[in-house]
Amino acid sequence: MDLNLNSTAGNPAFPGGDQEETVRVLIIGSGPAGLSAALYAARADLEPVVLTGMELGGQVSLTFAVENYPGFPEGIGGMELVELFQKQAERFGARLEYDLAAEVDFSERPYKVATQNGKRYLAESIIISTGASAVHLNVPGENEFTGRGVSYCATCDGWFFKEKEVMVVGGGDSAVEESLFLTRYADNVTIVHRRDELRAGAILADRAKSNPKINFAWNTVIEEISGNGAVQTVKLKDTQTGAQREEEIDGVFIFIGHNPNTSIFKDQLEMDENGYLVVDNRMQTKIPGVYAAGEVADPHFRQVITSAGMGAAAAIQANHFLDENPLSE
Ligand code: NAP
Repeated sequence: MDLNLNSTAGNPAFPGGDQEETVRVLIIGSGPAGLSAALYAARADLEPVVLTGMELGGQVSLTFAVENYPGFPEGIGGMELVELFQKQAERFGARLEYDLAAEVDFSERPYKVATQNGKRYLAESIIISTGASAVHLNVPGENEFTGRGVSYCATCDGWFFKEKEVMVVGGGDSAVEESLFLTRYADNVTIVHRRDELRAGAILADRAKSNPKINFAWNTVIEEISGNGAVQTVKLKDTQTGAQREEEIDGVFIFIGHNPNTSIFKDQLEMDENGYLVVDNRMQTKIPGVYAAGEVADPHFRQVITSAGMGAAAAIQANHFLDENPLSE
């Protein structure tokens, strides 16, 4: 391993020098991976600091119910689960900072992270758990009507569609799960899917197909969203015949996948062709002492339990790394 253990000053132009703090483990992101890493690092007496990012808990905090995290046979609310994760990590000494990593410098140890609030962290090791963000359809009207009928979060916005008609775009687990949730409010939910078969697993798919409030627009894509102040109409296209039609609708929920939140690591860490961080089976990136866990490094499983497991593994490895590579006595 090529370790530079002698660095102290580094690049003086790196932002945030007025408020500087040295930490043993800095965890960037507070979803299941980040908070599980925080729990394990805290129990190893590493006094981890967690930069929460924009959304404490990440995507799961916006999920109405988590039914597949072991230990909760009746299911548990997404935010409730995050609060339990947080409480458990803090009980052992993790510290959460409601701040965002804005810039990183991993060229030498201690690694530098500047935050949006103007602070600079010097970290002996780093665990990246910045998660992923919703993919947009990129059709006319989508940006204009976001928050005015277009949404990427049923838990956040479902309530506004009481007794209304909504469309959900996508055919995966997210689209189907969120459609089922939306039936609590909306009178009618139409799943608009570009093929004639759902990608979602059988249990969710069966639940949706037997729900009287859910309809399907198979082989269909949305080409344009329009309205007057709020969503009123969508232009639809049949993917097989090319035929176009317009329909009136009150809301459009889009669940067509996610992009990893890795832009600040560009040119510093290895990524796959879709921007996911590349790690080995011990969550290690190519940079010694820099780990990645959860969806930012996992385009495949994307479950609370797998992300939590990756976070725990990263913290265990960070602890070994710090034992073997002390930066200061
Ligand atoms: P996903 O499985 O990748 O599904 C994305 C869906 O969006 C697919 O049906 C895809 O169509 C469609 N799509 C993609 N780009 C599109 C475009 N430009 N226009 C129209 N449609 C488009 O994503 P996901 O549903 O977010 O799930 C991601 C992962 O999380 C999966 O592994 C899933 O199992 C997991 N997950 C699990 C649960 C659960 O277990 N309860 C809940 C949520 C998510 P095609 O099918 O034609 O590709």
